[in-house]
Amino acid sequence: MSQYDQGLTVMLTAEQIHRKVVELGQQITRDYAGKDLVCIGVLKGCFPFLADLVREIELPLRVDFLGVSSYGDRTKSSGVVRFTSDLSKPVEGLDVLIVEDIVDTGLTMRYLLSNLKTRGPRSLAICTLLHKPDRTMIEVELDYIGFTIPDRFVIGYGLDYAEIYRNLPFIGVLGS
Ligand code: 5GP
Repeated sequence: MSQYDQGLTVMLTAEQIHRKVVELGQQITRDYAGKDLVCIGVLKGCFPFLADLVREIELPLRVDFLGVSSYGDRTKSSGVVRFTSDLSKPVEGLDVLIVEDIVDTGLTMRYLLSNLKTRGPRSLAICTLLHKPDRTMIEVELDYIGFTIPDRFVIGYGLDYAEIYRNLPFIGVLGS
């Protein structure tokens, strides 16, 4: 561990994440064969997961991004979701897979689903790396889940605390 990593406790190692991403990529490859897949990453937290996941999907696919902000710099959800950037292309008639870093209360996902449904995709599904079921406020059907985790505020592999730690190759918690 470097000096930078001190004060962090590892919850999921880079190796565990890699194995899960390969597994998810294989499932998605099977499920989306013959379809018009577009993977929509939810910024900013999705970027390492999306980059790793699409390289494990052995199909022609498109990638696009939505920017959403719900947390500010705090560790508690404000419940207020706002778009910070929109898709670059329409998704009408396409098989949309939302790629998210974490589903916590479900508020962000509810907002995204209702917004994307109005754009006429052929299908709409969700792939999240992490799920914190203890915090659910809105039940949303999650089609692909990497890991179910306890109610801890996690950082790394795209997830931040006050915009820092996104570059950690593992997922951890601050403190012990
Ligand atoms: P939800 O709307 O489901 O409560 O929260 C979704 C968003 O909140 C995630 O995309 C993420 O940005 C943020 N979030 C929720 N839990 C955590 C966490 O444990 N760590 C970090 N860094 N962000 C979280």
